[in-house]
Amino acid sequence: MKVDLHCHSLVSDGVLTPAEVVRRAAANGVALLALTDHDETAGCASAEVEARVWGISFVPGVEISVSFADETIHVLGLGVDPGDPALGEGLQRVRSGRDARAKRIAEELERHGIHGAWEGALRFAKNPALVSRAHFARYIVSLGLMRSVSEVFQYYLAKGKPGYVEHEWAVLEEALAWIHRAGGVAVLAHPARYRLSTSQFAELLRRFDEAGGTAIEVSSGSHGPDDMRRWAHVARQWGFAASMGSDFHAPEESAVDLGAAPPLPPDLTPVWQLLECAL
Ligand code: AMP
Ligand code: MN
Ligand code: MN
Ligand code: MN
Repeated sequence: MKVDLHCHSLVSDGVLTPAEVVRRAAANGVALLALTDHDETAGCASAEVEARVWGISFVPGVEISVSFADETIHVLGLGVDPGDPALGEGLQRVRSGRDARAKRIAEELERHGIHGAWEGALRFAKNPALVSRAHFARYIVSLGLMRSVSEVFQYYLAKGKPGYVEHEWAVLEEALAWIHRAGGVAVLAHPARYRLSTSQFAELLRRFDEAGGTAIEVSSGSHGPDDMRRWAHVARQWGFAASMGSDFHAPEESAVDLGAAPPLPPDLTPVWQLLECAL
């Protein structure tokens, strides 16, 4: 069974509508799909309707931005009620910081010779309340200054690069509390992407565990085979369930298409076994 529990629509920084995401997943043979837009659940309703049309089991989700030890961590909430007021208020607060941040990113880029980045990024952001670095990257690619979104990150937008600005997102425990209040389970997304020391990772896992975190995203579009082995091992050690997802954003951009993340090691508990809405 093909499963994809991590992907994006134009409600955040993907390029397809939620319904188009579902249709593409269906075409790829996905049987169980979660839509996990950044800091917003507004796409889940239309995705759910479309999933019913195609006979796909749909899991409403979200990917919450969290600040931890000078790094940004992403926590997926799977099986959340998209209309839950506590979750909605929390996400609204996380989104509200994005505007000022995007203006600062544009100022930094301006200083480095990239003009009109605020208006440019807004043109690419179909949801003006959710301007992401991915929208800046697409704008810069459209200017012909760089060949790809990942190249823009490498030179301008990754931490420590000229267009990167520090930002305070949610606190780990509050993000998990919102997810739990909304009836969902919390998954630590793409852990191999975080630049943390061994002791910081131990602290992250301890706090995630204490706050009731359920699973680690072992199979991810941004994990290589070594990452997958390492994080499968961590899931076993800590007794976490395992999740899998492409982190698909856009057809020409994402290396891993919907449904194409590699299967989980068979000894791990797949997180969807713990999701009522997926059974
Ligand atoms: P933001 O939430 O505005 O900080 O943007 C984060 C998003 O930027 C991620 O969810 C990815 O979609 C994208 N992103 C981050 N790092 C990279 C990278 N190295 N290459 C391509 N896209 C990236
Ligand atoms: Mn993204
Ligand atoms: Mn992420
Ligand atoms: Mn993602």
